[in-house]
Amino acid sequence: MNAPIMKGKVYLMGAGPGDPDLLTVKAMRVLRASEVVLHDDLVAAEILELIPAWTQVLNVGRRCGQAGMSQEKIHSLLISAAREGHQVVRLKGGDPLLFGRVGEEMEALSRAGIDFEVIPGVTSAMGAAAAARIPLTDRRFASKLVFVSNHAAGNTPATWDDVIAKDATHVVYMPGTNYGEIAAKLSAGGLDGRTPCLIVANATQGEQQIRRTTLRELPLEPRLPAPMLLIVGKVARPLPPFEDPAKPSPRATSEPHEEILHLTDTRVKA
Ligand code: SAH
Repeated sequence: MNAPIMKGKVYLMGAGPGDPDLLTVKAMRVLRASEVVLHDDLVAAEILELIPAWTQVLNVGRRCGQAGMSQEKIHSLLISAAREGHQVVRLKGGDPLLFGRVGEEMEALSRAGIDFEVIPGVTSAMGAAAAARIPLTDRRFASKLVFVSNHAAGNTPATWDDVIAKDATHVVYMPGTNYGEIAAKLSAGGLDGRTPCLIVANATQGEQQIRRTTLRELPLEPRLPAPMLLIVGKVARPLPPFEDPAKPSPRATSEPHEEILHLTDTRVKA
C-alpha cells in the first residue's frame, strides 16, 4: 500500500506594522492553526505572542546588515516543512509583497511544486500614515503615491530621479541613518526645501515616535531607531489647529457661512 500523501501548504503572510489589531482576520485564523512559522526580525513581539505554544517557530531574519540565514536555507526549510505535510507560515512585517524577498521564495516554492498562498498585510507606509494622520493622496496636493526603498539589489543606494515629483507623496522605506543623503536626493529631484517631511519609527507599536520637519531641516533631525520610514510631500503638513467657536477668529464676520467659504478658498490656493 502506498504511504498517504501529506499535503502541506505555505502561507506567505503579512504581519502588518506591529499593532496586532491590524492583522487581517484571515492572517489571525491561519496563524492560530499554523504548525511551523518562519518569521523575519521585523515582526513585532506582540504578533509572535499570538502563535500557538505547540507551533515550531524560527526567526530567519537578518537585521541591520547582520548575516542571517541564507535565502537558499529559508527556501529549503519552507519546502521540507511543507513536504512533511505541515501548515507553514512565512511571516513578514507589513505586507509580504513589498520590499522583501518573497519573489525568490515564490519561485522556489513553485519550482518545488509546493502549494502556497499570499495573505496580505497592512504595509508600514499605511500604518505610519494612519498613525500620523496623513491623507497620502489628498487631492489638493498629491496625485501620485511613490513607495521607494533606499536599498537596491546588492545593498547599494537606490536612485529615484525618475519618480520624484512635486505633486507626489514619497514614502521612503529603509532610509538608513544618512538623512542628509536622502534629503539631497529628494532636493535634486526638484522638491522644495520647505516640503513637509515626517519621520515615523515603530509605527503602530508602543514605542512609536513621529517627528515632523521639512526637507531642508531633515539632515539635522536626531536619528530614530529602526524600523523607521519617511513620508515626504505636501500632504505631510500639520493639520489646522482647533478653532474654538466660542472665540471668534480675527477674520470672523457676522455671517458664518461666508467665513466657511472664505477659509475653504484660502486652503485650496495654499
Ligand atoms: N514588507 C514591509 C517592508 C519591509 S522593508 C512592509 O510592507 O512594511 C523594511 C522597512 O519597512 C524598514 O526599514 C522600515 O523602513 C519599514 N518598516 C517596517 N515596519 C515599520 C514600522 N513599524 N514603522 C516604521 N517603518 C517600518
